Amino acid sequence: MHTFKFVRPPDSAAAIAMAARSKTAQQGADVRFIGGGTTLLDLMKLNVETPAQLVDVNRLPLGRIEAVPDGGLAIGATVRNSDLAHDPRVRRDYTVLSQAILAGASAQIRNMATTAGNLLQRTRCVYFRDTAMPCNKREPGTGCSAITGSNRMLAVLGTSDQCIATNPSDMCVAMAALEATVHVQGPKGKRAIPIGDFHLLPGNTPQRENVLEPGDLITHVTLPPPVAGSKQLYLKLRDRASYEFALASAAVVLTVAAGKVTRARIALGGVGTKPWRSPDAESALVGQSADAASFRKAADAAMRGAKPQSENGFKVELAKRCLAHALQTAAAS
Ligand SMILES: Cc1cc2nc3c(=O)[nH]c(=O)nc-3n(C[C@H](O)[C@H](O)[C@H](O)COP(=O)(O)OP(=O)(O)OC[C@H]3O[C@@H](n4cnc5c(N)ncnc54)[C@H](O)[C@@H]3O)c2cc1C
Ligand code: SF4
Repeated sequence: MHTFKFVRPPDSAAAIAMAARSKTAQQGADVRFIGGGTTLLDLMKLNVETPAQLVDVNRLPLGRIEAVPDGGLAIGATVRNSDLAHDPRVRRDYTVLSQAILAGASAQIRNMATTAGNLLQRTRCVYFRDTAMPCNKREPGTGCSAITGSNRMLAVLGTSDQCIATNPSDMCVAMAALEATVHVQGPKGKRAIPIGDFHLLPGNTPQRENVLEPGDLITHVTLPPPVAGSKQLYLKLRDRASYEFALASAAVVLTVAAGKVTRARIALGGVGTKPWRSPDAESALVGQSADAASFRKAADAAMRGAKPQSENGFKVELAKRCLAHALQTAAAS
């Protein structure tokens, strides 16, 4: 493992100034923030990430979950995934988020992992994590080993001919369905980014995964006020019951009145190159009867345009069944 300097800045401004010295906020940045370290240290051990300096953000005052005046919730960047999942307000009003977090990783990892770190976790594509193999995301221009190689776990939505890596986060899928906002403070001030605009599609620049600029510190995430009477569910399908990433998952936030769906927010995990909100599935559902036929139509709409690779064609039907079942279960709850 290469050597690096570890620093604990006294406040957010100092942390931002340190990170702003990097030429990039993405892959290859010389200075990186560190939260729980469960993504970053892993990648440093593999020589995939080789920062010269780690800026520890854990002592900054970003560790609280607080109610905000509009009735929503603000979640600090260093709030641990476990604390977020078990917060009584989250369990009651944002059940889908609690369920999604608890479906991820292990209790030990969730105790370390932070909100900001989870938003920025990297793909589990095996070639990205192996510096002996070509990978456009790790080393732009070298090629994508997965397109002709092992791609069973990888994406079928939002891919490009440069990269087909899946975004692996469960938390982000629930946040997409809840229409969360990511708050960032950087050298040019503060900004608020809707989660749907935060992650980028790979296109021709798979090395750029989000809209962060050098020095940008995620300070917190806000959730809008809870939707009264909504039925929520996170369903994750995977190769084994724990400690495994999603093959397909669905986060649904559904409102039903007199047997009809009046509001739907739907996002998929395990199948997209970013946490995959599906406006097509939502509009296919609103105004329809809350029944199996409507749920299947919404699932078909969600996966329209899917582009399977040699080993992951099964994900198209799996994701449809996952979403239809999640909708059915939520509606019946
Ligand atoms: C064995 C294993 C299994 C896992 N299984 C799952 C799973 O099933 N589902 C799932 O969703 N996840 C899973 N994970 C991933 C886990 O959820 C992430 O590793 C974790 O959420 C990352 O959070 P962290 O705080 O440890 O991030 P770190 O490793 O500290 O940081 C990750 C990235 O975020 C940046 N960063 C951190 N804080 C900030 C900030 N405030 N502002 C700007 N940038 C910041 C860092 O520079 C780094 O680039 C698994 C991980 C492991 C190791
Ligand atoms: S899918 Fe993306 S991360 Fe995986 S090898 Fe191809 S370029 Fe790299």
